[in-house]
Parts: sequence; structure tokens; C-alpha cells
Amino acid sequence: MSATAECLFCRIVSGEIPADVVLATDDTVAFRDVTPQAPTHVLVIPRQHHRDIAALASTDPGLAGRLMADAAQVASDLGLEEFRLVLNTGATAGQSVFHVHAHVMAGRDFGWPPG
Ligand code: AMP
Repeated sequence: MSATAECLFCRIVSGEIPADVVLATDDTVAFRDVTPQAPTHVLVIPRQHHRDIAALASTDPGLAGRLMADAAQVASDLGLEEFRLVLNTGATAGQSVFHVHAHVMAGRDFGWPPG
């Protein structure tokens, strides 16, 4: 079965599963996280299926760059001057959906290092 058929975020890209979309470009879709970890929590994903940022960067570094640019655009569109940008990569790093996504989070103090 293809990644599109099995993958939750591919099904959001196709419109099969609804999402609260805040930005859609030719390359990416950004939508609000269903379980927000901050007052603002948006996920930015490429329309193409790639497992994680490592796979995307090695396969299509240009698209990886556009993903970052669109994450910054989302922050700008939402009026965020400060935000945290996170790409969990692998299960031990906290990745639970294996379609690369950037978390854009803001609206509370995060501190460093992360927990
Ligand atoms: P990660 O743990 O880094 O893989 O992040 C996956 C994120 O996807 C989590 O923050 C989930 O809350 C979020 N998520 C899961 N299902 C949906 C959905 N249907 N719509 C929006 N966000 C979702």
C-alpha cells in the first residue's frame, strides 16, 4: 500500500481527513495541531511524503528549505515574533507521525534545554 493510503498526514494533504489549515502552498500545508502543546501550535508539512527531515534533506534539500521558509511564513502570518521550531526525528526523539513535520509553537515560555 502506498504512503498516501497509510499516512495520516498524506490523508490531510489530500483532504480526506479535515484539518484547520492556516497556510497552503504548492509545496506545503500548515495546520493547527489537534493536541496543542502551546497557545499557538501549528504543524507544517510537505505535500510529498518523506519519513522525516533526514530523508527529506537527502532526497530533496530544496523542498527542505521551502519547508523551513514556509514555517517562518506561518509564524509571520500569525504575528509571532518569537517561536519554537521543532522537527522530531525518530521515535526516541518523540516522532509519532512518520511524515516529516515542523512544529511551530509560541505563546508560552519553553526554556532550554527542552524536557
Ligand atoms: P510528532 O510527535 O512530532 O510526530 O508530532 C505529531 C503531532 O501530530 C502531534 O503533536 C499530534 O498532536 C499531531 N496530530 C496527530 N493527529 C493530528 C490531526 N489529525 N490533526 C492535527 N494534528 C494531529
